[in-house]
Amino acid sequence: MFSPWEMNCSSLGLRVLSGEGVRPCRDPGAAPTGRQYLADYLLPLAKSRLVRGAVRERTRVLAISRDATLKEDLPGGGARALRPFRILAERGGRPEVHAADIVIDAGGTWGQMRPLGDGGIPAPGENEAASFIDRGIPDFSSPRVAARFAGRTVLLAGAGHSAATSAVALAALAARHPRTRVIWVYRATRRPLYARVPGEPLPARGELCAEANRLASGCDPRFEPCPGSVVESIRVTGGRNRARLEVSLRGGGRRRREVVDRIIANVGSTPDPSIHSELQVHLCYATCGPIKLAATLLGKGDDCLAQVAPSADLLSHPEPGFYIIGSKSYGRNATFLLRAGLEQVGAVFGGLAGAARPLQDAVPSRRARRAGRSESPATEPKNSSHFPETRA
Ligand SMILES: Cc1cc2nc3c(=O)[nH]c(=O)nc-3n(C[C@H](O)[C@H](O)[C@H](O)COP(=O)(O)OP(=O)(O)OC[C@H]3O[C@@H](n4cnc5c(N)ncnc54)[C@H](O)[C@@H]3O)c2cc1C
Repeated sequence: MFSPWEMNCSSLGLRVLSGEGVRPCRDPGAAPTGRQYLADYLLPLAKSRLVRGAVRERTRVLAISRDATLKEDLPGGGARALRPFRILAERGGRPEVHAADIVIDAGGTWGQMRPLGDGGIPAPGENEAASFIDRGIPDFSSPRVAARFAGRTVLLAGAGHSAATSAVALAALAARHPRTRVIWVYRATRRPLYARVPGEPLPARGELCAEANRLASGCDPRFEPCPGSVVESIRVTGGRNRARLEVSLRGGGRRRREVVDRIIANVGSTPDPSIHSELQVHLCYATCGPIKLAATLLGKGDDCLAQVAPSADLLSHPEPGFYIIGSKSYGRNATFLLRAGLEQVGAVFGGLAGAARPLQDAVPSRRARRAGRSESPATEPKNSSHFPETRA
């Protein structure tokens, strides 16, 4: 990661871990690897007394709606809040239905990789070549993974920070296996490819971008940068054991063909709107993120530190009680940092707690609410008063 521990942890998370005798890091200014962040912060938190039992693992949310209510019903008013959310999930191949008063969708975008073809749609042949295409950043520290690339011709597509990370890792691999060749294809033509941030506050990001710029400048003989280029089509050639890919590229007004062994497509990810398509959710037509936040982020540039402070209102939708937070809230805008997500959590829960306070005396106890729900789910009044009890 290029953000340091102190930006990646919430004070609440650190307090909870401290209460359990866990200290995720020695140096808050150091940047962890993703693995360290998972092992030393996220997993201990998931096992902490506060969270344990509240996480339902291996469960996928398939669709979210309202009890006895369709998307077109009761538009724009608070009346929809009188009906609890109805959530269809799947666990171990079996469907299950849950009810909730509040839904926070923090589903990220990582599972929804974008196609690599020209115009953001699949290149002809891309689907057939799927087994030759890595869509994340390959873990070159694994000998099995490195062997797939060492001494091969690799096409790397994209020019975001993921592509920069792949490029730098490929350069290190190529230094050990000199026959490795990398064709780096991206639409941008700017120089340097990665903007220099004056007084770079994230040294790890600065180092990554500087090295990626060096590779994009063409000074490494094993790297061939192709700025202003797109992938037009892909064709699997050769026999079963000697299959390669013939890739058609277009750039600078001309077409060329390259034969490569593998492709790394770091061309971004996109949110999955399907789970909330029955709710009254207003998304930006460009970024696919929630419209109010998207409008506020507009014009903030590419620096992920130049973000807006979130508020519960900024994250709200016409659908009452529904929030999209985390990287999914930024949609295709790639400037999201964990720190922004942690601030969003504070803003949403702060807003909910504020909204709940005046209601607290007026609502039945948790047990009464449960009983009431089973009798008459469609008419149960919405309340948020369980938030003080909520452990998430
Ligand atoms: C290579 C790379 C490097 C990065 N480096 C940094 C960095 O240094 N610093 C930084 O701040 N950020 C970094 N980021 C951004 C980083 O991804 C986010 O900050 C962070 O992971 C986003 O957290 P999230 O919880 O919003 O989404 P995610 O981490 O994507 O988590 C979403 C979770 O929701 C689950 N999910 C999705 N759909 C469903 C469903 N329907 N039902 C149930 N579960 C579902 C997913 O399985 C996943 O576990 C990096 C991203 C990448 C790709």
